[in-house]
Amino acid sequence: MQEVKKPKKPLIFYYVVVMMILMLFNFLAMPWIARRQIQEVDYGTFLDMAENKELGQVEVQQQENMILFTNKDNTVIYRTGMMPDGDLTQRLWDSGAQFSGEIIQQTDPLLSFLLSWVLPIVIFVAIGQYMSRKIMKNAGGSNAMMFGVGKSNAKVYVKSSEGIKFADVAGEDEAKENLWEIVDYLHNPGKYREIGASMPKGILLVGPPGTGKTMLAKAVAGEANVPFFSMSGSEFVEMFVGMGASKVRDLFRQAKEKAPCIVFIDEIDAIGQKRDGRIGGNDEREQTLNQLLTEMDGFEENTGVIILAATNRPETLDPALTRPGRFDRRVPVELPDLKGREEILKVHARKIKLGENVDFEKIARMASGASGAELANITNEAALRAVRDGRAYVSQSDLEESIEVVIAGYQKKNAILTDQEKKIVAYHEVGHALVAAKQTNSAPVQKITIVPSTSGALGYTMQVEEGNHYLMSKEELENKIATLTGGRAAEELVFQSVSTGASNDIEQATKLARAMITQYGMSKDFDMVAFATVTNQYLGGDASLTCSAQTQAEVDRQVVELVKGQHEKAAQILKDNREKLDELAEYLYEKETITGEEFMEILNR
Ligand code: ADP
Repeated sequence: MQEVKKPKKPLIFYYVVVMMILMLFNFLAMPWIARRQIQEVDYGTFLDMAENKELGQVEVQQQENMILFTNKDNTVIYRTGMMPDGDLTQRLWDSGAQFSGEIIQQTDPLLSFLLSWVLPIVIFVAIGQYMSRKIMKNAGGSNAMMFGVGKSNAKVYVKSSEGIKFADVAGEDEAKENLWEIVDYLHNPGKYREIGASMPKGILLVGPPGTGKTMLAKAVAGEANVPFFSMSGSEFVEMFVGMGASKVRDLFRQAKEKAPCIVFIDEIDAIGQKRDGRIGGNDEREQTLNQLLTEMDGFEENTGVIILAATNRPETLDPALTRPGRFDRRVPVELPDLKGREEILKVHARKIKLGENVDFEKIARMASGASGAELANITNEAALRAVRDGRAYVSQSDLEESIEVVIAGYQKKNAILTDQEKKIVAYHEVGHALVAAKQTNSAPVQKITIVPSTSGALGYTMQVEEGNHYLMSKEELENKIATLTGGRAAEELVFQSVSTGASNDIEQATKLARAMITQYGMSKDFDMVAFATVTNQYLGGDASLTCSAQTQAEVDRQVVELVKGQHEKAAQILKDNREKLDELAEYLYEKETITGEEFMEILNR
């Protein structure tokens, strides 16, 4: 879609320009206009005219050493230089002229009045009229908008044939289906009105960052072929109290004029957070929110203005915002599944030149958990890699490498590990992989590397999920914990000491074990009681405990027991396969990076 930029310059800019033009005019042009009417003559002419009594008015300018005089009708002004003339006063007296120090008006009084008073006023009024008409046309005009304050600054996208369509948003079929109704309504509102159905005024797109919420909103506008107003929640909140509210008013005024249209508010949680009645709360935000609520109540159903808003923290929104009649419909926009990831990769791969052997399914499988934005980034990184290596097309290995770049950070080529460190890291990573492979339910290993990456990881074992997982059994989760402890278990077994390299594993294993006990009801004693609530579901999903101190202690005890049990299991697996562990670690130490196939081949030898 094409973005139409509105005039950015505030009204004051135009006034300043006019002031400057007028000042220049006064300084330069006025004296010139005045001088033009004066005729330069010699002293003799003056004497002759005096003699013949042809003088009208005479002005003697002692300081400038000259005489200004007019003819009898005062129609022409003459000037001449002064000569030493003792009889001058007598001569003038005789000629019957009017004479004095300052008598002659060099310009026409009427003209000078027009130029210095009437003209500026006329220009000012004209510009004012022009500007206010222009603003009225654009936005409807408001007092607060003088000098550009309180304007909504919403980006407007006009109807355009090349706008984003649903076909550009891959995956997300449920969300698209949900939004298709809106498109249909905008195309054909009569159908809905006839039956008495009214569209929801607001729709909340909820999901993790980078899953295509903005894209979906644009696609709705693109499919329905209506204008699209876009604004971010944080843009409403200004330094001055009251400006946010004025921006909301302005945005809705514009939208109503352009109806049917889509208004998109990104990151609505910036203004829509719960009002908690604390003293000294954020007044500006609350006023803005109140104005938004009022505006949403204000327009009747079926006006054709549909508000879409995006957030990844739906639980922080004010209940007044989510009640029926406001944002009453919620469309989840989730992380893409395997098929979705493959489609998104294909959409973005359209823009780049691909080699022949590219297997999108495999890439999608490897990039498990990646968002649409990350997948877009992966394809772009792959293209950049191809350019860096001087190739004309993107190959499978480019794509595979760039997954690691996006998910694990760049390979840090110059981080130097000591020999002993390298050995420890090799055993650590093989420990993970071996435990994973030996537990039948664990996903096979895709790749193991001990090349340090910029994200700080010294090694990396990439596992691949076979197919899509929506449910995980207790055993699968336990195996996952065992795999996470496998690295440390290998270090203990081989070096009889432990290192700091397992901190991330420890964190993940603990989180998983805690979730099993407090959220998934997988402990013996607690049955189906939840002891934790998930906050920020779409931003990492941290859980906070909601139980008594005693239960908390018991939960901690069980978490320790669970992780300990799996750690022992992992240690046992490694003990039983000590030879393979040594062989694989040796091989990884030599090669630094090995693939899943190489790994399996050595394991099954
Ligand atoms: P959000 O608003 O959810 O944070 P965006 O809509 O801004 O995410 O998406 C960011 C970028 O990610 C888009 O410009 C697009 O390139 C890519 N993207 C995300 N989801 C998809 C998808 N489903 N299909 C294609 N591209 C996607």
